[in-house]
Amino acid sequence: MLPVIALVGRPNVGKSTLFNRFTRTRDALVADLPGLTRDRQYGHALLQNNPFIIIDTGGITGGEVGVDGLMAEQSMQAVREADITLFIVNAREGLTPVDEAIATQLRAENKTIHLVVNKVDGLDQNTVLADFYRLGFDSVSAIAAAHGRGVGKLIDNVILPAANIDPDLEETETVDSEDDPEKGPKLAIIGRPNVGKSTLVNRMLGEERVVVYDMPGTTRDSIYIEMERRNKQYTLIDTAGVRKRGKVHEAVEKFSVLKTLQAINDANVVIMIFDAREGITEQDLNLLGFAIDAGRSLVLGVNKWDNMSEDKREAVKEAIARRLHFADFARIKFISALHGTNVGHLWEAVDEAYASARVKMTSSKLTRVLEMAVAKHQPPASGRFKIKLRYAHPGGHNPPRIVVHGNQTKSLPKSYVRYLEKSFREALKVVGTPIKFELKESK
Ligand code: GDP
Ligand code: GDP
Repeated sequence: MLPVIALVGRPNVGKSTLFNRFTRTRDALVADLPGLTRDRQYGHALLQNNPFIIIDTGGITGGEVGVDGLMAEQSMQAVREADITLFIVNAREGLTPVDEAIATQLRAENKTIHLVVNKVDGLDQNTVLADFYRLGFDSVSAIAAAHGRGVGKLIDNVILPAANIDPDLEETETVDSEDDPEKGPKLAIIGRPNVGKSTLVNRMLGEERVVVYDMPGTTRDSIYIEMERRNKQYTLIDTAGVRKRGKVHEAVEKFSVLKTLQAINDANVVIMIFDAREGITEQDLNLLGFAIDAGRSLVLGVNKWDNMSEDKREAVKEAIARRLHFADFARIKFISALHGTNVGHLWEAVDEAYASARVKMTSSKLTRVLEMAVAKHQPPASGRFKIKLRYAHPGGHNPPRIVVHGNQTKSLPKSYVRYLEKSFREALKVVGTPIKFELKESK
């Protein structure tokens, strides 16, 4: 599981500014699911190359009623979900009664709280900090989020140790999540509430004679279900979490962004479910963005395809073509989880995507594909310089990573990288998984 950082504090202390600074390191997509997560933003961040999930909260105003009360409750919920809580205060305003009230609430959660005094730019740090030491927290940092001052120290001295990461260790590449080949690929079934995830999970389990082992889950975690289909092992990650457990049909907290993000991160293949009757919504696009950002293999399932008029079906297909082109590497299956229609094809797409994520690549083959692609279309010149692509070698699996060496590779336009991706995808027959490129400078 990725460590989770929650940012809490009054409005306007600089939480979003810090959130943006943390998530910027990696074209982060922000899941903003209106209605479900009012005023909460979730993002992925790479801090010194270590992946985290960050939750930004709407802010606690001290007003306990109405929208403010709801916002405060959501902030506290974020604290409960988090491994690391950063309590942000504003150096320019000094310590306020609301800060003191928030501190009291946070202490009641029995978690280590890290106080972060923001906006110290242009102020005398010692004077400012003295004021806030009165809150009695052991961990106090001074930063200027808007300018980045102190943020590196905050990461090295507070966040990484709190996540039990040694900041002096060599930076490591994120490892392939290929942990236990015995148990087969992990499949995360994700999607908005009511798109049919639990119906699908039950269908996937019930379709064949399966061996199911339930793993106890908490509200925070998805349920992991090991199963066998046609002599192959899989683990379903059930984010809906409404399967029958024991004799009781427990409808635990049905939808949680955090649970979904953790499931995506832990999965080998993400099965993203849409509701054909609702079309493609903003929330769908946000979730899909997360799955793609995480580099997971992907299968798209458009559910509730039963009983739809031809006109409606055409409209959905048109919306998919228009809005899902950024996921065009993934197979799309039109299914009915309720009746089981096309669920077999969904399984085939899953197997194909998983095999693609682990496709065998050799340096000689990759270099040959590169040479052929370049021969067909030369990279454009970058100013006075010619961009030269020399050779390629494999950089890892799951998703496949291809390292391309050459000159002026930093100037290679995105459109050309897309062209390369297409060429490699066709040559390697990779479907349902993104391909990551690393461009290296070499003589
Ligand atoms: P949030 O409501 O807690 O998310 O606060 P925001 O991140 O939206 O910031 C509120 C205001 O404070 C914005 O105008 C920011 O530009 C400003 N701000 C944020 N960080 C700093 C900082 O380090 N120094 C200064 N001077 N202003 C900052
Ligand atoms: P979840 O919240 O994503 O787990 O969604 P559920 O599996 O609980 O399904 C929500 C509702 O959609 C339920 O009433 C299901 O019976 C219904 N549903 C699920 N799959 C289908 C389907 O393929 N066709 C139709 N017509 N209804 C479906």
